[in-house]
Amino acid sequence: MRIYNFSAGPAMLPLEVLEEAQKKLTDFEGSGMSVMEMSHRGKVYEAINAEAEELLREIMNIPEDYAVIFVQGGASTQFEAVPLNLAKLGTADYVVTGNFAEKAYTEAQKFTDAKIAASSADRNHTYIPEMTSANFRKDIDFVHICSNNTIFGTRFRALPDTGGIPIVSDMSSYILSEEFDVNKYGMIYAGAQKNIGPAGVTIVIVKRNLLGNESKNCPTMLKWSTQIKEKSLYNTPPSFSTYMCMLVFRWVKKMGGIKEIQKINERKAKNLYDFIDNSKFYNNKVEKPFRSLMNVPFVTPNDELDEKFIKEAAAMGLTTLKGHRLAGGMRASIYNAMPEAGVQRLIDFMKVFEKQNK
Ligand code: PMP
Repeated sequence: MRIYNFSAGPAMLPLEVLEEAQKKLTDFEGSGMSVMEMSHRGKVYEAINAEAEELLREIMNIPEDYAVIFVQGGASTQFEAVPLNLAKLGTADYVVTGNFAEKAYTEAQKFTDAKIAASSADRNHTYIPEMTSANFRKDIDFVHICSNNTIFGTRFRALPDTGGIPIVSDMSSYILSEEFDVNKYGMIYAGAQKNIGPAGVTIVIVKRNLLGNESKNCPTMLKWSTQIKEKSLYNTPPSFSTYMCMLVFRWVKKMGGIKEIQKINERKAKNLYDFIDNSKFYNNKVEKPFRSLMNVPFVTPNDELDEKFIKEAAAMGLTTLKGHRLAGGMRASIYNAMPEAGVQRLIDFMKVFEKQNK
């Protein structure tokens, strides 16, 4: 039986994508083998790899002057790859709006002169700080942001004015959730395991005119141009994960693209936030203009009730609702593959739990 899994990642995948993969698991389209078993140098896999890139370009409207690659190592590896690839001047400013943004900054300090331009740590990352171009140094390679804070549940609604300095964004829990203009970014990266596919693949989208500025110490495997030249096939790729991502991209297209998915995401999030805001029992501490569409943290009046909530919800088939240890309480991650019915089931359970425990 499928349950509603509110995990922050790896997260739910669309059922029809899983079923499609299942149907072809042991014999992929007459090849007599699984995608997992075939050479990444063969024609069959090359077609999958090419379709994955084409579809991502189509659904995200990625212009030709951006390269798209599928790499390994998770978003965490890009914390290092970013300053190693964008190392013309050897300086970069970081906006710290949560745990992962902080980690990116900490890694960057090893490879570049990294400074914090703004931070939301003063109010426990419950908002996105207001910034003007005065927040940023003039002679820097890039400004790094994290579009959606997976742990505390905030998101950037508008990009800071960096005075023309390229913006690099960690979109691990944001990509494909709503429409945005890729042209406004110098580089985008995202681990797949939330809105895109299984863990193992990381998406890198980079404006081509930023390439060629690698630090001379940049390892071959971290250099974006290595994989760009080889169309993500420089070494053995996470082929099955990329195949699953390709199926998810087909699903996004079939759903009407990100435009339609965004409407569903907005309905799901509104439904849940409205319920929380109208309740005196539950609370979401994020300042309203910055609330995430994807990750909704909330608490009951006390820790014991939070624990009870998580246990009883799991027994009802609503799982992985425990908040991150840094935020406490609960967190409902409602990525693209979480059906509206799943969010409604959660709200129905919240109503019952409130009645029984207030
Ligand atoms: N950035 C963000 C915003 C994340 O949510 C996560 C994972 N939860 C990471 C980075 C780390 O990703 P990975 O595990 O793929 O390295």
